[in-house]
Formats: sequence, structure tokens, C-alpha cells
Amino acid sequence: MSQIKRVRGFQDIYGENARKYRYVVDTARNIFEKYNFEEIILPFVEDVSLFVRSVGEETDIVQKEMYVFEDRGGRKVALRPEGTASAVRAYIEEKLYAKGGYQKLFYEGAMFRYERPQAGRYRQFHQIGAEIFGVDSPVADAELIKMVQDILDSLGIQTRLEINTLGDFESRKRYMEVLRQFLKGVEDSLCEDCRKRIERNPLRVLDCKVEGCRQATADAPVLMDFISEKSLERFERLKEYLTGLGVDFTVNPRLVRGLDYYTDTVFEFITDKIGAQGTVAAGGRYDTLVKQLGGPDTPALGFAAGIERLMLLVETMPEDQPLVSVIPVVSEFNIQALKAAQFLRKEGIKTELILKEGSLKSKMKVANKFGSRFVVFVSEKPELKDMESGEQELFENIQDLIEVVSGKLKGALG
Ligand code: ATP
Ligand code: MG
Repeated sequence: MSQIKRVRGFQDIYGENARKYRYVVDTARNIFEKYNFEEIILPFVEDVSLFVRSVGEETDIVQKEMYVFEDRGGRKVALRPEGTASAVRAYIEEKLYAKGGYQKLFYEGAMFRYERPQAGRYRQFHQIGAEIFGVDSPVADAELIKMVQDILDSLGIQTRLEINTLGDFESRKRYMEVLRQFLKGVEDSLCEDCRKRIERNPLRVLDCKVEGCRQATADAPVLMDFISEKSLERFERLKEYLTGLGVDFTVNPRLVRGLDYYTDTVFEFITDKIGAQGTVAAGGRYDTLVKQLGGPDTPALGFAAGIERLMLLVETMPEDQPLVSVIPVVSEFNIQALKAAQFLRKEGIKTELILKEGSLKSKMKVANKFGSRFVVFVSEKPELKDMESGEQELFENIQDLIEVVSGKLKGALG
């Protein structure tokens, strides 16, 4: 029979990689909780118009990357390509604003985009992200950025931080017109995608990765010159707070982000270590989005980081818990071995009862494959073998043995 393969752009995450995935998520989760963010578990499927209206009609995501289908009830739905739109929808639909104050939410999980798969870019990928609803102050922008920095630091990942301000909606619109005129003048030097972007999404031309486009736009008018006093002032405050927190950053006036909903602050944490897929975490403010999706006028901001990209950058993980394997020397001792394994687990020890029957030698082979730190041989008298030193010790009963192995493991963990 022919073998069925996984679908292009989709991955199995297993073994060491699954452990790394968990490590990244757990590390982030700890930090979210320290910053008093609450988890929200969002649906994978949403009404397609949610993304059209938030991410933006003319963005790459909506134009060519979304998984859209009709469900059996004839609804036009999409697999979520990102988390913010869903978080905003939930914020409005569940009336989270009615709780008063302001809300801080985090999420984790799969996102889907039909892109060209390569290292660090998949069709199903995973993000951690967080959103703050109901705070206008740039203190929030500074704390959010610092929190992302904390996550990266805890994972031992080095990046550089770039920030920019896009100003409010009005100044951005004025700027886009001027930019459009400029781009029409250099149209011949732009790549095919960017030529299309002139009308649809001229800002995106500025962060095109094609060298020709970079050169052609080197002298393009800069957004910063069109931005209101108020926006510039809040940007100054953000920079001041980041400096005060000891967060290093550079201002990149070309940083625009690929989604339409951003206003004022945008930021990216970037690395050169994983090729063209260099952005590991990104976010910004979206002060008009909640209202635009039918909610109360609510300033908001957030970020998302790609878990797979973080995984590519994680170099060391905490050691796995050491393993103790239990081997019944002959099958007459299976029951005692079953029980011994239970006793060990009750002590909090990671335990493998060697499940294969056969010769003692073949069972030892399995214990070795698992990388056991200790082996317990269950026979008339239980025996403990230290797999590092090779030492063996006989005991009167299993309780005595467990006490000793337990002490040794604690000692090893310091
Ligand atoms: P890029 O410019 O790399 O396409 P983006 O601007 O589309 O990124 P966002 O929509 O802001 O990215 O998503 C935030 C993060 O999610 C990215 O910085 C990246 O780490 C991760 N990410 C985005 N798309 C993918 C993908 N197809 N595969 C893996 N990770 C991704
Ligand atoms: Mg993208």
C-alpha cells in the first residue's frame, strides 16, 4: 500500500524538538504570569471577514496566505493566520471591557498561512503572543517590549530590537499618498510584488527584502516627517522608558510591519542567525482596531513570537530528569517489578518499567537505549546498579533501595 505523507508545510514535532517546544512555551508562560497576564484559549476557525477587516484586505496574509473554506453549513471560515484579530473579537464579544480597568491576555497555539515552506517558515506554525486592552500610556508599550525581552533572555536568545512609530491613522494616510507618488517614479526598478503594492499597500514596499527595491527606495520620503506632534511625543516617551529599563534598541524608520492595523509604536526583535526568517517576535499598537471591529473605542497593543523560530535559536535546555529503569530479572518477579515502579514514581522519580520480556541482557539493552541513570533489578533481593560508575548494591527490601536511590538522585540535582 502506498504510504501517506504529511502535507507540505506541516510538521511533526517529536522527541527533542517536542521537548524544546514545551520549554519555549513554559518559559514564556512563566513570564506572562509574572507580568500578570491571563491566558485566553482562542478558536482555530473564525469567520473569514474577521481577518479581512482587521489584518487588511490588501495584505499578503489576506491576499494569498489564508486557508479559507466553506464549512458544511455554508459558512465562509478561515483557519486563523494570527492571534490578535481573534483576541480582539473575543474582547468585544465576551465584553471583557465590562470588567473595568484594563485587560492583559496571552495566548499560545497554531496559526496557518499558505506560504513557501523553508527553515523557520511553515504553513502550520505556532505562536506565543500577548495583548493589552485599554491602556493609552506608552508605559504599557515599554512594559510589553520589556516582557518580550525577558522571554528572549530567559531562553538565552540574543536579538536586536528595532522600533518605529507609524503615527496615527491620519498622518499615515497623508504619508502613503506622498509615498505612492514617489514609488510611481521608480516603478521600473521595483520587483513585481512591489509594483502591485504601490496602489494596494505602499508602506510594505519599504521593507521588501529584494535588493533592487531597497536601492530604489533609499531616498523615499520618511514617515517620521509626516507624524503629528502627539505621536512624536509619545515615541520620545517610549524611548525614554526603554532606556530607563536598560533595553537596547535602534530606531528603524523603515519598519512598517505587514499588517494594516498598527498605529504608533511598532517593534521587531531580529536575529541574523536564521537567514531571511530573521524576525522572531514582533508587535505594536493598534488603537483603532477594537472600534473598527465594532467594539468600544479602546487603545490596545500586543506582540507575537514564532515558536519554531525561537526553537531554532535555543541552544541549551535544562537537563531532563534522570531516569530509573526497573527490570524483573525473570518473569516470576513481574508483579514485584510493577509495584516497585509505582513506588518509585510515587517518590517523584521518573521511572521506566522495562516492558519487553526476554533475556536479562535484552532488557538491559532497552534500559541503555532509554539512557537510564540507575537500573533496579527485581529478584529475591532487589539490586541497584549505578549506570555511570557501574557499581552494584544489594538490598534487603525495595523500600530500602528506593530510599537510597532517591537520596542519590537528590544529591545529583544538588
Ligand atoms: P515574516 O516577515 O517573517 O513573514 P510576519 O511579519 O508575517 O513575518 P507576523 O505576522 O508579525 O510575522 O508574526 C509574528 C511572528 O510569527 C514572526 O515574527 C515569526 O516569528 C512568526 N511567523 C510568521 N509567519 C510564520 C511562518 N509561516 N512560519 C513560522 N513562523 C512564522
Ligand atoms: Mg509573513
